[in-house]
Amino acid sequence: MINIADNLKAIHQDIINASNNANRSSVAVSLLAVSKTKPVSLIQQAYDAGQRHFGENYVQETVEKVQQLAHLTDITWHFIGPIQSNKTRQIAENVDWAHSIDRIKTAKRLNEQRDSNIIPLNVCLQVNISGEESKSGAKISEVTELAEFINNCPNLALRGLMAIPAKGDDEVTKQSFIKMQTLFNQLQHQYPSVDTLSMGMSNDMTIAIDCGSTMIRVGTAIFGARE
Ligand SMILES: *Cc1c(COP(=O)(O)O)cnc(C)c1O
Repeated sequence: MINIADNLKAIHQDIINASNNANRSSVAVSLLAVSKTKPVSLIQQAYDAGQRHFGENYVQETVEKVQQLAHLTDITWHFIGPIQSNKTRQIAENVDWAHSIDRIKTAKRLNEQRDSNIIPLNVCLQVNISGEESKSGAKISEVTELAEFINNCPNLALRGLMAIPAKGDDEVTKQSFIKMQTLFNQLQHQYPSVDTLSMGMSNDMTIAIDCGSTMIRVGTAIFGARE
């Protein structure tokens, strides 16, 4: 039996340890619980243990879970999966954050479809930091233009950057995270709303925190392995 409250406690301790080692304040690192493919009963358990930020990857599954848990009014929902153009409306209407914006077309649609009477959709720009051909994420050379576009969208709030590095050994992962940290620092200088560097998952969260991550996205270490 997996014990979600225990897992969350252990991860919070890991965050404290990693932050101490990096001479950072542990309150500067928030935990996004990635609940994709897991039932709402497990999200409820995490919620009962104090977790409030949840991340999902698939649009249909996201919408269903948001509706089923609508009574938990202080949950914050993050969409972290690839975004197809024909799914932007459901994202604009159902979540609080989207971490995976990698093209102007997507940003434009989300901005048009987000209700201007509610708070703007928080947006992180996803960067293809390892330069893998087949992977989502903007190229490093596209970040400036995309950030400027998002910054001018009234219904989007530019919050920062997200990356999923290519699989590799710790040193390779660290080099990718260091590149992200540099890009993030540059963006922060340009835009005061930028405060989020979304990187680090179950297997590399310690390295990510060492490289300045402000939000780790953790699934397996909280909810167990996915099918
Ligand atoms: C699934 C997923 C995670 C969580 O990965 P774990 O290895 O289970 O911690 C984080 N970020 C993204 C974008 C994901 O798709």
